[in-house]
Amino acid sequence: MRTDLTVGEICAGFEYSAAEEKGLFGWNGKLTIQPEYQRHYLYAESGGERERAVVASILSGYPIGLLYFNEVDGNFEVLDGQQRITSLGRFTKNYFAVEDAQGNPHYFKSLPAAEREKFLSTPLTIYICAGTESEIKAWYKTINIAGLALTKQEIDNAIYSGAFVTAAKAIFSNSANSNLHLWKNFVKGNVKRQDILRTALEWVVKSSQDAAVEEYMSLHRHDATAAELEIYFERVIAWAREIFPDMREEMCGLEWGRLYETYHANRYDVKKISAEVEKLFADEAVEDKRGIFEYLLSGRELTKLLHVRLFDKNVKRTVYTRQTQAAQIAGVSNCPICAAGKGSKAKKIWDYKEMDADHVTAWSKGGATDINNCQMLCKAHNRAKGNA
Ligand SMILES: [Zn+2]
Repeated sequence: MRTDLTVGEICAGFEYSAAEEKGLFGWNGKLTIQPEYQRHYLYAESGGERERAVVASILSGYPIGLLYFNEVDGNFEVLDGQQRITSLGRFTKNYFAVEDAQGNPHYFKSLPAAEREKFLSTPLTIYICAGTESEIKAWYKTINIAGLALTKQEIDNAIYSGAFVTAAKAIFSNSANSNLHLWKNFVKGNVKRQDILRTALEWVVKSSQDAAVEEYMSLHRHDATAAELEIYFERVIAWAREIFPDMREEMCGLEWGRLYETYHANRYDVKKISAEVEKLFADEAVEDKRGIFEYLLSGRELTKLLHVRLFDKNVKRTVYTRQTQAAQIAGVSNCPICAAGKGSKAKKIWDYKEMDADHVTAWSKGGATDINNCQMLCKAHNRAKGNA
């Protein structure tokens, strides 16, 4: 729904918190500009050039762009335009002055009456997001294509706005929450773009499917708290911390929710795990360090997660030639496993392309990735043996 409100209407009852450095309310209290827990007002920074530019645009009759509000239980919150609205509000409250063409500074109260009137009666175009869930969804899809780039979670917060979203945002997109520092060791993303909240929801629904997250938000829309979400999230983090107490940047952004669900019933020797993490991080053959955590959780089963470095081409060529020459002299297959068998392949000489390199002593049993621990096997036998 599109509407026009004047600068004066939006700025009526404008409240600015100097202590928190943010615009709180406007439109006679009906509009929440920045909820308590949100980021600071930025346009006053570095000399206030940006807030002066917003005011100068209005005074010159230039547009300041579209504003987006979200309807929440009969009131409104600013979805896009917090900084611009706070600039206008602060100007009407005489927090700063703008210069006229002659370079003379003017506070709002010192502008000529006609200028003040013109400023306050300037219309601003506002899109208010309201309607049924599916209407709002369709609307956001369209405006997101047109340019207002919102994250999925920002859109879902608007679609399912209400008590639950308010409570959840106060926990997960609250830059003043002292737990954030810890959480960011495990969860990737931007707090104010709702990335932590998204992750918390994906964990609790045990799925990263949009539909699953939305179903949960719809179901809990009118809950007064987000306690279940918070408790589950904290439980996952506490579990991860207990097993991997030494923070490493590779831990950030792993699927801790899935790991918790898969492995939390297992018992781990934390001291031993800690030593193994250390050792694997120091091991050059481990090419994907992020795989170390689940590899250890899996009881060292999922070696493929480590992307253990393979033998290079020169090594494979040398071993192939050596093995093939010896096999031809002995009259057996150049794949040692084929040669040991009695089948039709027992004397087969495979082409280089038909073979793969294998660790004689498995890497996971301490075998090195060097020529002394390399043998060539036919592809079928290499697959059957597993490559680590
Ligand atoms: Zn073979």
